[in-house]
Amino acid sequence: MISNIRNKKIVLISPHPDDVEIGMGGTAFLLAKKNKIHHLIATNGANSANIFKDKKKLVEARKEEAINSNKYMGIKNIKFFEYDEVKSKSIKLEFEVKTKEYLKRINPDYIFLPHPSLDNHPTHRIVSKAVINNLHMLEKKPKIICYEVWGAFRKHDYFVDISKTIKIKKKIISFHKSQLKVKDYLNGILGINKYHAIFDDFIKDNAKYIEVFLEYKST
Ligand SMILES: [Zn+2]
Repeated sequence: MISNIRNKKIVLISPHPDDVEIGMGGTAFLLAKKNKIHHLIATNGANSANIFKDKKKLVEARKEEAINSNKYMGIKNIKFFEYDEVKSKSIKLEFEVKTKEYLKRINPDYIFLPHPSLDNHPTHRIVSKAVINNLHMLEKKPKIICYEVWGAFRKHDYFVDISKTIKIKKKIISFHKSQLKVKDYLNGILGINKYHAIFDDFIKDNAKYIEVFLEYKST
């Protein structure tokens, strides 16, 4: 299991402040115990569902939610790029330059991100592609591992049994109240984690919840 990785430098990429928590909260918690984790959050989530009807309030709330969930996961190094959106050509370019500097400084062994083509959220794909575009600039080639958020994977390269960590994953996601009030992401992703346990044949191992991952290999 990739949760056995230890003594490595790992970068987690969240396009929005809650993506790592949803896609790989259980695994991130396990990895944080034995590795040096850096978490890059690309946007401030300003354009997500807004219960406050006020952009500034939403951005503040989402940052605080992310700080608290990361603290609970045991992740101390969070970098907020705080873009409203990574859409326009100029922001995309700026994001790539900043990401490149960030990755060069950390020189990670592993990078976890949403899948650059299989994820259904356009911002996720843009952010992941921007990260992947910069990897040739790094001295050491990190292993790229994709987690699932918007769109379940039909097959996987790696899995982590999070059955014993499921209460923790629930708690990690529950910090993101501003989003959970609008959509029940928590039960959505727990359903996917349960689905993998049952349909990807982990039940024989007594697994109840599984997070799955695909390795991204550049061609
Ligand atoms: Zn997202």
